Amino acid sequence: CLCSPPSKWPPATPILGLNEQFNADTNPNKVNLGVGVYFDDNGKLPLLQCVQAAEKTMMEKPTARGYLPIDGIAAYDAAVKGLVFGADSEVVKGGRVATVQAIGGTGGLKIGADFLKKISPNATVLISDPSWENHRALFTNAGFPVDTYPYFDQSANGGLGGINFEGMLAKLKAAAAGTIVLLHACCHNPTGYDITPAQWDQVIAVVKERNLTAFLDMAYQGFGYGIAEDGAVIAKFVAAGLNIFVSTSFSKSFSLYGERVGALSVVGSTKEETDRVLSQLKIAIRTNYSNPPTHGGAIVAAVLGNPELRALWEKELGEMRVRIKAMRQKLVDGLKAAGVTKDMSFITTQIGMFSYSGLSKDQMVRLRSEFGVYGTDTGRMCVAALNSKNIDYVCQAIAKVI
Ligand code: PMP
Repeated sequence: CLCSPPSKWPPATPILGLNEQFNADTNPNKVNLGVGVYFDDNGKLPLLQCVQAAEKTMMEKPTARGYLPIDGIAAYDAAVKGLVFGADSEVVKGGRVATVQAIGGTGGLKIGADFLKKISPNATVLISDPSWENHRALFTNAGFPVDTYPYFDQSANGGLGGINFEGMLAKLKAAAAGTIVLLHACCHNPTGYDITPAQWDQVIAVVKERNLTAFLDMAYQGFGYGIAEDGAVIAKFVAAGLNIFVSTSFSKSFSLYGERVGALSVVGSTKEETDRVLSQLKIAIRTNYSNPPTHGGAIVAAVLGNPELRALWEKELGEMRVRIKAMRQKLVDGLKAAGVTKDMSFITTQIGMFSYSGLSKDQMVRLRSEFGVYGTDTGRMCVAALNSKNIDYVCQAIAKVI
């Protein structure tokens, strides 16, 4: 027999399929709205001025690259605590937050997942339906059964789509004590729909009443309404006396994707308990990758620790946030001008980098094959990749497939 023997290795996965397809596309007008990356109005990945200034100072005084402590740069961890919990936070002052530098937001989630597996080996993890596609895989790989809670419902708002909050709350109410609930702190990926502050209060009440463990994924702090505004949801959980987990990512907010800068913070009940948590987090880090890399963390610590650079960062982050919002409005206006009669104004009520457009898989496939406009089959488009040069083309293309 000439046929090859069955391979002992698992099959390839299509994770990067869309990007590869985009790169191979010869359409000169092609637009990639498939990735979760912010591009500036020239379609370029920004290199922030605050980052350049911090790097310049670092290069003027080069330092050797020894190993960092297992939990990372102390000044970095302190700066993360300030951003996530607020500079005057009582839990931070009371030594009740354990924060560790992590390899991106993904690393923060993974360290948290490994730690949780040790303390709650029989728990189930609930993620939103839909969620960032790596959530399920990450918690499954950490050994947890992963289930979903209802989140987005295309039939809501007369078919325009929206959050099924009743369904979400009902599922959380029915969850067994100890269930780990993964929540998007702001700028929900992939839908772009966030629950309201009043709805957060209801979620917090159920988390508390049912004794659930809330794990807040904050990959987009500053992209919603502002750094403090987006962080306010964390303060709500803390005020309710909950022992939460928070993963942080600076990939987008510092445009430092490849430097892998993130963190995990865990709120303990007492300082003593928090010290024990920190030592357990260090074990999780040690057994995954020993200790974090130096460069990205040093940049973020330098920017956040210097009032001038921090102000520059807040300005640059604010410009990204405002530009995305302007693109949402342009998209709504452009679709109308291109002849779309359906009310698309929901795009401006969505928040963050993504928009669930409500387009079907067939329409998304047509957008790709006929126009070179790439979004995911679920209808998700990255509005942060729209700019003044490609917006008209994208609007025309969408109008033709709707
Ligand atoms: N969580 C969510 C919701 C995300 O969208 C992302 C990035 N796409 C991450 C976590 C991971 O962030 P990082 O790239 O910093 O690992």
